[in-house]
Amino acid sequence: MKTSQGFMVLSPGEQLAMREACRIVGRLLAYLRELAQPGVNTRELDEAAEAFILAQGGKPAFKGIYGYKHTICASENEKVVHGLPNRRRLQEGDILGLDLGAIVDGIYGDAAITVPIGPVSESAAELLKVTEQSLWLGIVQARPGAHVGDVGDAVQRHTEGHGFSVVRDFVGHGIGDSLHLPPQVPNFGVRGDGAVFVKGMAVAIEPMINQGTFATRTLDDHWTVVTADKRLSCHFEHTVLLGDRPEVLTWEEGRDYSEIRAVGVNPAVYQPESEGEIIATLDTPQHDSRQRVETRPTGNVF
Ligand code: MG
Repeated sequence: MKTSQGFMVLSPGEQLAMREACRIVGRLLAYLRELAQPGVNTRELDEAAEAFILAQGGKPAFKGIYGYKHTICASENEKVVHGLPNRRRLQEGDILGLDLGAIVDGIYGDAAITVPIGPVSESAAELLKVTEQSLWLGIVQARPGAHVGDVGDAVQRHTEGHGFSVVRDFVGHGIGDSLHLPPQVPNFGVRGDGAVFVKGMAVAIEPMINQGTFATRTLDDHWTVVTADKRLSCHFEHTVLLGDRPEVLTWEEGRDYSEIRAVGVNPAVYQPESEGEIIATLDTPQHDSRQRVETRPTGNVF
């Protein structure tokens, strides 16, 4: 069912399909994290990802959409999103964004992680940590009755507090029988602003966080988005079903979430079908004097 705003409220059957699509995605995140080592190239990761999704009974979600030819997006270092799998061998010290989706029975799941290739610089490790933390701080905000701006506010506050910047040109999105549904879910904004989340909808929350400027540009291949200043960028994403509480359907199997607990969020209670109670309560600081963001998001992102 679609609301008047175009939000998709998933039926029990559709929720089942989304759980399965997202389970495939979550397993694949863990698999690719293992495979992404120095000497491997991202074409190989793309081929492995496609075979994995098909073997698990899903279909790659990105292939064919807007003319995209691959299963994953692979965005190294200064690439923000939509990096094309290529033959360059990954090197120690790289960071690699892996963004991917699967379809089961016409319903989509979508997630992204950024992984270190071997040991990385302290500043790169900090960017990864803070970005992933900001994703979870955003997830906590995504509940029925909350505003879209609550998510962006939490992400922006945490990442800017660590001296990083939030990409404005691409945003998260609703998800269901299409990869991209309303509402847009920016990673910046003001608490209390924007559309109100509805129970039974699903959203892809996906902070894209830069070391330097938030400005981006798109390369001549018309896909690859890079930071305007060539400094590092990082991307994490989960598909989240909004029941009585947010449920992280694309849970990455085997992930050590200790760095997330450090910001007062216990990921375990957001596990799919977990019966745990939410015990993490976050202090929500009263709103500061920052100006409202006037930048208009220009595009969805995988
Ligand atoms: Mg997405």
